[in-house]
Amino acid sequence: MNWEDFRHWGRRAADWAADYHAGLRNRPVRAQVAPGAVLSALPDAPPEGAEAMQAIFDDFEQTLMPGMTHWQHPRFFAYFPANAAPVSVLAEYFVSAIAAQCMLWQTSPAATELETRVCDWMRQAIGLPDGFTGVIQDSASSATLCAVLTMRERALDWQGNRAGLSGQPRLRVYCSDEVHTSVDRAIWIAGLGEENLVRIPTQGATRAMDAEALRAAIAADRAAGHLPAGIIACTGGTSAGASDDIAAVMDVAEAEGLYTHVDAAWAGSAMICPEFRSLWAGVERADSVVMNPHKWLGAQFDCTTHFLRNPDDLVRTLAIQPEYLKTHGADGVVNYSEWSVPLGRRFRALKLWFLIRAHGLEGLREMIRNHVTWAQDLAARLEATEGFEIVTQPMLSLFTFRHLGAEDLDAHNQDLLNRINDDGRIYLTQTRIDGAFVIRFQAGAFTATAEDVAMAYDVITELAGT
Ligand SMILES: *Cc1c(COP(=O)(O)O)cnc(C)c1O
Repeated sequence: MNWEDFRHWGRRAADWAADYHAGLRNRPVRAQVAPGAVLSALPDAPPEGAEAMQAIFDDFEQTLMPGMTHWQHPRFFAYFPANAAPVSVLAEYFVSAIAAQCMLWQTSPAATELETRVCDWMRQAIGLPDGFTGVIQDSASSATLCAVLTMRERALDWQGNRAGLSGQPRLRVYCSDEVHTSVDRAIWIAGLGEENLVRIPTQGATRAMDAEALRAAIAADRAAGHLPAGIIACTGGTSAGASDDIAAVMDVAEAEGLYTHVDAAWAGSAMICPEFRSLWAGVERADSVVMNPHKWLGAQFDCTTHFLRNPDDLVRTLAIQPEYLKTHGADGVVNYSEWSVPLGRRFRALKLWFLIRAHGLEGLREMIRNHVTWAQDLAARLEATEGFEIVTQPMLSLFTFRHLGAEDLDAHNQDLLNRINDDGRIYLTQTRIDGAFVIRFQAGAFTATAEDVAMAYDVITELAGT
């Protein structure tokens, strides 16, 4: 294909995308194919000769599309959303067409400076004080890895990268037992070892880490000759929205001189609504905060905003040229590749800029508030329905429930969940709460309506036979 052919296919792609979205409600949310069905429909060997674009397009529609799960479906209530607002898709189209590498200021000054600007817009939007500086990472997992590496280097007086970890005391990082698995991976990759990720038990309805237990664990580690390096707190855990008491965690961190990272990958989007900010009260005292505009907010994946109280610590950890540190920011030039693990960087700021401008913060707030209200309504309706139990109450738009009335509740709810997802009108996933299998519901699709959430009630109760 050359760029003249691209004109034609680009228009067809735009039409296809609009038609796809217009017809989404009629598709089953979760792919309904058997394992291996798509693979066996694909030729074993690559073509030697060029194929016609029409043939490729036909196979895309006929072979691949039935095997896709529709994350932009209005009744996608599984996992967390990965919303792609149409305007952010359009921005990505421009980004793909320009295809710039934005690792240094000079490799695309506008990309760097727009990133600086939109990160500051997001900072203001979620109510972080102006001492925080943002950068866009590819994922919350990467941001958390960056934070763990920073904790490590800071604790080792910046010697870890050069000298390695052998001969060092055990570095310890603390978190609750509700954090995302990206924390485990960050610990593995940073070379600290899973055994040095200290899980603090949680308590109460918010499933927050017990600050006294945290304090005791740190003291015990110091007594044992270990080296406490940092604390990872979460606001809106993946399973049921567990949220640490950030202020209480910060009291401990400050007393102990530990670096802190707050993972609000999902719930951070809700902080554009001031009424939800009490969920992370004290966050302004953290060193590092991550939230994903690519989840709830509608910036097409991937787009993670990572806020730092002192970016110098991160740059000192990741910059290849240490002397650059001394001037970082001073001459007005920022090289964002020094703030993240990969060198190459996509122009991710553009979609966030398009999104915020096209919807306005007020438009995005309305979406989030609706989702929270509808999820609360659904939880209340299920709770009032004979045979259902709300296991964890709504945390923003996320709650968990199960259906009672069977000997083996885990198997019964797994079976109900399978039947719901095979039905296809809605898509839900599961988690375990205190060992019990429960069904998870979150409302967050960009185009969801109150009727879509009401349909979830109908499907759940119908298939549970109540
Ligand atoms: C989704 C999620 C992550 C992982 O986000 P990625 O951007 O996919 O790496 C981490 N933590 C929490 C709380 C999440 O919800």
